Amino acid sequence: MHVIHMHFSHSLRLPKIRFIRFLSLVFLLPLPASGQRLHDHLQAYQVKIDSAFTEPRALETVAYFQQFWRDGGNADFNACMDYIAEQLHGAGFARERSPFQVHTADTIIAGSKSWQPHAASLRMIAPMDTLLYTLTRTKMALCVGSHSTPDTGVTAELVFIDTLKQIGKDGLAGKIAYTHRSPFSVYQKAVMQGGAVGIVSSSIPEFNRPDQNLDLVSMSGLPRQGERPAFCFKISRRWQQTLDSLLARGPVILHARVRTEFLPKHVREVTASIIGAEKPDEIIALIAHVDEPGANDNASGSAALLEMARSLRRLIAAGELPRPARTLRFMWVEEIASIRRWKTSRPDKFHKVKVAFVLDMVGEDTNKTGGRFLIEKMPDPSAIWTRPPDAHTEWGQGFMPKSWMKGSYLNDLLFAACETVTRREPWDFATNPFEGGSDHVPFLAEGIPAILAWHFTDRFYHTSGDNLDKVSKAEMRRVAVAVASAALYLANATPEHVGALLDWLQQRATWRMNNEIGHSRKAILQASDPAKAFEQQKTILQAWLNWYRQAFGSVASLPIHGTTAALQAQINRLQHRLEQDFHSWIQGLHHDSQEASTH
Ligand SMILES: [Zn+2]
Repeated sequence: MHVIHMHFSHSLRLPKIRFIRFLSLVFLLPLPASGQRLHDHLQAYQVKIDSAFTEPRALETVAYFQQFWRDGGNADFNACMDYIAEQLHGAGFARERSPFQVHTADTIIAGSKSWQPHAASLRMIAPMDTLLYTLTRTKMALCVGSHSTPDTGVTAELVFIDTLKQIGKDGLAGKIAYTHRSPFSVYQKAVMQGGAVGIVSSSIPEFNRPDQNLDLVSMSGLPRQGERPAFCFKISRRWQQTLDSLLARGPVILHARVRTEFLPKHVREVTASIIGAEKPDEIIALIAHVDEPGANDNASGSAALLEMARSLRRLIAAGELPRPARTLRFMWVEEIASIRRWKTSRPDKFHKVKVAFVLDMVGEDTNKTGGRFLIEKMPDPSAIWTRPPDAHTEWGQGFMPKSWMKGSYLNDLLFAACETVTRREPWDFATNPFEGGSDHVPFLAEGIPAILAWHFTDRFYHTSGDNLDKVSKAEMRRVAVAVASAALYLANATPEHVGALLDWLQQRATWRMNNEIGHSRKAILQASDPAKAFEQQKTILQAWLNWYRQAFGSVASLPIHGTTAALQAQINRLQHRLEQDFHSWIQGLHHDSQEASTH
């Protein structure tokens, strides 16, 4: 079927191509073999990893993590790191002289304190006597950074502060400040200025659907460097409604008891490596953060990564999978902070990372949590010019300098790996444009390709509802299998592998340009000033041209033994063809815009 291997532009001007593509979609005819070579290679890895991944063991790890309020460097956090290290030792990772190594590193973070909660309770004394929260039952009701009360606790009047015009100095001394807003946003006014002993806040993002999930408590924190010790409790929408109506009728008195500890910050980090046989210093990194108290965020990522490491070690040791040529490095970290420290302390190693895969919120049982599995793409033009089928999540568009927008094979490789899983079982997945907020960010900031595997919108994200019952062990397996196959693919990249990936990239570029040209044409034809619209659309299409041109070029660094003349020639050919076609598309659009201007 020459259609697919012909120039990109044909599909944009000649309806015939559209018709063939439409046919293949409608009748689910398998797409021409080129793109499927990659899927076939990935499938070969996936069926093995699938069989070795033990779902119940992954769920056990989530259950273990669930006991703890994991805050970077606190005893709970380090206990979970110890658990991971123990499990890796038990799975045959050794400290040294082995291709399968595990290392635990302790770092003291000067000038920082870790926060460890021990006990907490919030009780209403008047107008009625009732217990609202305890740490044991609802650990997220206690805000990170809460200080201890006297052993006997404090009894104080609750004062709603959101309607107060101003709070005089110590105007809230001995009181508990009550707000619908976030604790962070009122801390200065209520505690530093007003002298409140504590805060009660009911803030919760709308994407948690608090009016439907009335008992959810949303996780929050107090400023870590806050000079005045205070505690803070988060309450649900239901308790907000109760307190608001009680306060409308008279005073409310609460009793709070909190026991927490601030200790010199001592962060434990665990790394497991499957040492590359040929290029041991080149690293494929796989990362999961251990901190934060949720089951899906991120006990699931930590658990899936552990089970992935165990499965790969067993398969490789048994010779069922080849030992990778490059090193696979599995890292359990404190979110973002650990990677930033690694970059500073070991720039030699950090800059040997060829690519990073981040597992963060990978176990959602979407029948319960809503949302779906998402590949958060490396920065591409859809992060700026977001057009269907791309869409930002409810988490929202984050900080992204244009300099981060570098074309790469990574988005489409992981997409193919997820598609390959659907050959064996149904799986609802999609991509979202870059947003940030996890461990892919510090790599992207240094120009290292990095991608995030997550779920959104999880209705229980960062709430007391993010518990074991919301975790699907099959979902953890699917994500781990897809990510592991893509990582292995890059760790063993033969010229055949790279050629198949380049073919797939060509297909993806065709699909993408088709999609964007369609949007651009519509925008020009609908514009009041078609000529101006043409210039705007040209910018967007130019961005996609640059992006895919770079993406083609990015595979040159993949072959284990370096790029070959044949590969470079293929890359040049594809780049040249894309540029040529770009000019004819632009001509076509310019023609459309001129016609539209005359009508
Ligand atoms: Zn997370």
